[in-house]
Amino acid sequence: MKRTSVGLVALMLLLLSVGLQARDLYLGVLDWRDAPDGLESWQPTLDALQQGLSGYQLHLQMLDLSALQQALAVGQLDFVITNPGHYVELSRDYPLAPLATLLNPLFDPPHQAVGSVVLVRRDAAIHGWQDLRQRRVAAVSPQAFGGYQLIRDQLEQRGLNAEQHIGEWLFTGYPMEQLLLLLQSGEVDAVVLRSCLPETLIAEGRLDADWWRVLEPQKVDGYPCQLSSDLYPDWPFLSVGIQPPDLLRQVVVALLQTHSEQGLPEWSAPLSYQPVHTLFARLRLGPYAGFSGHSLLALIHTYRYFLLFLVILFVAGLAHYLRVQVLIRRRTAELQLAMQQSRERQQELTHLSRFSLMGELATGLAHELNQPLTAIVNYAQGSQRLLQKLPADAIQQQLHDAARHMAAQGERAAEIIRHLRGFLRKEVPQSEWLDPDQVFCEAIELMEGRLRQTEVKVDWQLCGALPLIQVSRVELLQVLINLLANAVDAMTQLTAARRTLLLSSRLTAEGNIQLDVEDHGEGLNMEVQQRLFEPFFTTKASGMGLGLSLCLNLIEQMGGQLFLFNREMEGCCARIQWPADAFAGMKREDGEHKND
Ligand code: ADP
Repeated sequence: MKRTSVGLVALMLLLLSVGLQARDLYLGVLDWRDAPDGLESWQPTLDALQQGLSGYQLHLQMLDLSALQQALAVGQLDFVITNPGHYVELSRDYPLAPLATLLNPLFDPPHQAVGSVVLVRRDAAIHGWQDLRQRRVAAVSPQAFGGYQLIRDQLEQRGLNAEQHIGEWLFTGYPMEQLLLLLQSGEVDAVVLRSCLPETLIAEGRLDADWWRVLEPQKVDGYPCQLSSDLYPDWPFLSVGIQPPDLLRQVVVALLQTHSEQGLPEWSAPLSYQPVHTLFARLRLGPYAGFSGHSLLALIHTYRYFLLFLVILFVAGLAHYLRVQVLIRRRTAELQLAMQQSRERQQELTHLSRFSLMGELATGLAHELNQPLTAIVNYAQGSQRLLQKLPADAIQQQLHDAARHMAAQGERAAEIIRHLRGFLRKEVPQSEWLDPDQVFCEAIELMEGRLRQTEVKVDWQLCGALPLIQVSRVELLQVLINLLANAVDAMTQLTAARRTLLLSSRLTAEGNIQLDVEDHGEGLNMEVQQRLFEPFFTTKASGMGLGLSLCLNLIEQMGGQLFLFNREMEGCCARIQWPADAFAGMKREDGEHKND
């Protein structure tokens, strides 16, 4: 009885301990070849693990990509063995920790284990990546690491976008071997395989090596398989979520104790999967599919048309703004100029109205002066006649001369006034043959009072033998007096000793007649030179600014030219010039003045 109860207790304890320790653990393995021996090939690993685990019952499940993902989603799995790309992709959504990395039994170092190879038919005209443009290419899945993603990276590194530049992608799903049938039958132009698959299939006698070749073969010293891509670490063994530390320790120890000599897949301590992260960031895959994973260049590339549009919009806006600014400045300047001109016109009009008033006053004055002047001339002539009758002596002679001068000056004054009236009435002035030197002298005589008053001396250098010219005496006098008055005005600031006018006349070698009025004043500055002949342009406080514009008109009507220019040393020279042939066609009737 006692022995029976002890046995029962022992059995219960055994059952309890078995019940306590036999926790089920599920290991999901990515079934990439979908081969019937898939499960078998992992069985040694499973056995080795199971041996190293006490109190756990390990179950192996071969799952394809989506099934593996679903199992994770429902929390079915405790451990996972999958390809590096799938691991990085899953790590976005699940807490996965690599416990070990599978070793390639044929090749060291462990971080160069997984690659990709592209096969084309031996006779195909495809020799480089660029030849894949517009071709049909087959792969198992866009999520296959060695079976697709590594080749997509190779294409992008050569400026080829897998979606845009390849004619068509055919994703067949696993098993990978079926791609070779598509290639052989000509249904596709190229296939993407995980590296070493062709070699394995050849070794298994399931693939002939004579009808295909590798596209863009890469050389990695010692790597036993043909390659078209870079190499990455092999598959990781991952723990899912938070596992008890004791379990993790047992799993890791069991994995690290596997040896390839025993025919087992061998595991090493976990390697860094950073190169795979970098690759996914380049390809904008997995955790890097969103904005956060995009590099600036990738963003710019993605939104290039929008950015281009923004840049064009900005440039157009800037151009419009600058154009508006330029237009505003130009219009403002034009407006200011117009206002300035309008102010000047206003002043000119004021001047003009004063000038026309002055004309009316002068007409009236001339009319009024005409009668007294005629009377003075008549009286002077009468006195002259009476004086002739007196006995001739010195006094009589002097009185007679005085009366003659009086009559002559009175006549000249009357004549000037007559011409002035004619000028103001716009009558056509009478031209006559004149000696220019004589008119010069007359002008000086008329200016005598002003010259004396301003203490200006006059130096003469007259030619004395100039050809006669046919002009209006009064008009020529008017011009000369104007030039003389300007010359006198220009010297008011000088000391009396320097106030000298030089009057000269000459016949040039070309036969031109020249009359010069030169002064020692300040001369003409740039602005004055440009605006000299503009009506109403003056630099004098009491000036009208009409003198020179009038003189120019008159001289041009007389067939001559008028220049004002700076003298070499100082002062200004006003020059009237008639060309040799100016009066050639005119008939000379007044023989009295002929001096040639
Ligand atoms: P106004 O004598 O009433 O000013 P003008 O038409 O005769 O009008 O002269 C215009 C301007 O030309 C003068 O205001 C003066 O600035 C300049 N000018 C004319 N002659 C001389 C001269 N000999 N020396 C310096 N400036 C002169």
